[in-house]
This record gives sequence, structure tokens and C-alpha cells, in this order.
Amino acid sequence: MNHLSRKDLEKISEKLRARQLALLEEVRNEFDQRENQHLIELMRREPGDSGDYSMADEVADLNITMADRQIHELRDIDAAFARVKSEGFGLCVDCGANIEPARLLAYPTAVRCLVCQERHERLFAQEARPTL
Ligand SMILES: [Zn+2]
Repeated sequence: MNHLSRKDLEKISEKLRARQLALLEEVRNEFDQRENQHLIELMRREPGDSGDYSMADEVADLNITMADRQIHELRDIDAAFARVKSEGFGLCVDCGANIEPARLLAYPTAVRCLVCQERHERLFAQEARPTL
């Protein structure tokens, strides 16, 4: 069972899909005209059509060096879609608690609850500055 209502999940899926399209659009703008057809095709596809289909991998295969940031975010979105499908969406990867619905609506790709996210960021900040 998921702690999110069907309506929340739909809203989150819509948001993920909109972000995915925006990223593909960004990639397309950085991209050569002759390859555009492939991206247009990608944008028409429904996310998660087949089990292991990954939008991020498709974009990565296009070999656009400019698109690293977009590919990274597309991977997060692919993973979020996979979690929606498997009904494991909205569970914190660190403590297994339900992630607050409001947080997921704001950040659909969030994988941690607020408490774990803050701890994660503190740890990360310390690792980044080991001499302090
Ligand atoms: Zn947590």
C-alpha cells in the first residue's frame, strides 16, 4: 500500500512527465538539426512503456556532450517513474519511512524524507570540507 492518494500520484506523474519533456526540449535546443527527428520521437513516447526502457539512456546514446546535466536529471526521473510503477514510490531510501506528500509534490524525484535529506546534506558538506 502507498501512503499517497491516487490523485497525488497522478499529479506527481504529470509533473515528472512535464519535467522530462522540458529537459528533452532543452537537449533538443542544444542539438543539431539532423538528429532532431530522434528526439522528437522520444518526446512522443509515453514514459515507462516497456519495463526497462530508459529515457535517460536514449538521450545518452545520442552522444550529446552538452547534455550531462539533463541526462543526470532524466535518470532521476526514470528512476522515479520506475518507483511509481512498482508502488515503492515515496519511501525514504535511508530509513524506509513515508516521504511527506507535500515534499513529493514539490520534488517528485526526492528519495529521502526531510530528516534523512538534511542528515545526508550535512554529511556530504563535511566530506566536501574534510579539513574543517
Ligand atoms: Zn528517512
